[in-house]
Amino acid sequence: MTEQTLVLIKPDGVQRGLVGEVIARIERKGLRLAALELRDVTVEVAGEHYAEHAERPFYGSLLEFITSGPIVAAVVEGPRAIAAFRQLAGGTDPVEKATPGTIRGDFALETQFNIVHGSDSPESAAREIALWFPSLNS
Ligand code: GDP
Ligand code: MG
Repeated sequence: MTEQTLVLIKPDGVQRGLVGEVIARIERKGLRLAALELRDVTVEVAGEHYAEHAERPFYGSLLEFITSGPIVAAVVEGPRAIAAFRQLAGGTDPVEKATPGTIRGDFALETQFNIVHGSDSPESAAREIALWFPSLNS
């Protein structure tokens, strides 16, 4: 059974020239790209995307970061795509949680600047895909 997940390459990943690296890892895993776009992010979309963190102390700084430059948004699909991409990404804290060999473990040092986002559940994936790619019907 195929599944879809929403992947973002955050402004740090784009600015550091890691778009190809991240996409290569997604493809090498056997996942497929169903949609892919470089775009600027409005604070409205960023705020909606991270709504679950609205009460967290880092929310303002997170929104400032996510809107600081272009991001790559993608819909990635395949069997267990949600968990498979979270495995590729590694844990949220790129030093304490992400292990070497993961995207965050290999390329990031600070929790906020951790290169990628991947949906964390089927419900999040459906909500996030509808937010970022409203014209896709899945
Ligand atoms: P994710 O699902 O692994 O991306 O992690 P979360 O959903 O918990 O957090 C969303 C994003 O907020 C993370 O990917 C980080 O960019 C950022 N973030 C999470 N925790 C912290 C924190 O403690 N401080 C800061 N500055 N940013 C954080
Ligand atoms: Mg999350």
